[in-house]
Amino acid sequence: MSTPILVLNCGSSSIKYQVIDTDTEMVWATGLVEKIGLADSELTHTTPDREETLKAPLPDHDAALHLVVKAFADIGPDLSEVVAVGHRTVHGGDRFRDTVLIDDNVIQGLIELSGLAPLHNPPGVAGIKAAQDILPNVPHAAIFDTAFFATLPPESYTYAIDTTVAHQYGIRKYGFHGTSHSYVSKKTAEVLGRDLASFNQIVCHLGNGASISAIKRGMPVETSMGMTPLQGLVMGTRSGDIDPGLFAYLARVADMDSAAVDTFLNKRSGMIGMTGGMNDFRHIMAAMDAGDEAAHLAFDVYVHRLVGYIGSYHALLGGTQALVFTAGVGENAQPVRAAVCERLAPLGFWLDPELNRIRQKTPWVISRPNSPIAILVVPTNEELAMARATAALTQ
Ligand code: ADP
Repeated sequence: MSTPILVLNCGSSSIKYQVIDTDTEMVWATGLVEKIGLADSELTHTTPDREETLKAPLPDHDAALHLVVKAFADIGPDLSEVVAVGHRTVHGGDRFRDTVLIDDNVIQGLIELSGLAPLHNPPGVAGIKAAQDILPNVPHAAIFDTAFFATLPPESYTYAIDTTVAHQYGIRKYGFHGTSHSYVSKKTAEVLGRDLASFNQIVCHLGNGASISAIKRGMPVETSMGMTPLQGLVMGTRSGDIDPGLFAYLARVADMDSAAVDTFLNKRSGMIGMTGGMNDFRHIMAAMDAGDEAAHLAFDVYVHRLVGYIGSYHALLGGTQALVFTAGVGENAQPVRAAVCERLAPLGFWLDPELNRIRQKTPWVISRPNSPIAILVVPTNEELAMARATAALTQ
């Protein structure tokens, strides 16, 4: 018996996909389409025994998904075996608080939410429509990045602004990366051999985008991303927290309109802005080794922000029992973990330098055996979590 699910993650210029059998958790195929909308778009399709790259100009998501179908037809596995499709959907707003089966009402709802997530929801909708055309006879589900945080308490999700304006425009904290925070927090409980509801944890999802959550007995009580994924930690290309006065100031002195400031803070800030062009920690750490002062400062700003958040969440939780690192930077950049934990040692986060140097694909503990707070690296697997959520809803 097998339950192969196709999970799709459509970004503005890329599509990531996997076929996962949720019974065996075997990955049958993974793929990435890049540079959609440009002349040199390409697709890489990988199966357990083959990897192929197909190049073709792909004007839109429809064309991209048709190339994906061709890759499945030429290389396998057989797409007709797929029993359901799960779509990563960034913004569920107030309306979608859990995984839903996609119908016309859901698509309409996602279109209406595009104002809140102009970069993310429109490509998601384009991907859903194209996938429904290609696989019309199986159920399609939407899995929301915001869903895990739908139960945040009001004191966390309320911004201190006029309530009428906030309600009129849906201005509140929603939180993102929820699929990862949920998956990793459950996995952490498994690794520690504890009931999820018996302890508190702080999960740091440090990828190109980065967010942190405070999870009290299994329920999120705070997270760093806000109404949009711009708030919070320093990220690869996003500023994270900033004085909101900057918007008016840049409009005045630099003649930047709101779209220009938005692009500046989302695409040209964070690590890439501070280092003059680097958002990959492999490059940043190599530059630090070579004595690059801008890289050093950017690293220090990144760590400073993270330490501040962890300390704050430790307080909000009334004490945490676990600190967990995940995603590209969290799983691989051991100097980041070392720098963060060194600063947090007085609060009971005692890192073991030897354990911190280990690299592996499965979760492991990196704190000293007598550390008051457990510190772990737990690789995230958003695709598996999405496939499971889709299977749970559709099978
Ligand atoms: P996203 O899903 O947000 O695109 P990922 O979770 O894949 O991001 O993380 C990508 C980032 O992880 C890279 O930009 C890089 O900074 C970091 N990263 C990946 N591999 C390594 C590594 N071996 N050492 C240090 N950093 C790494």
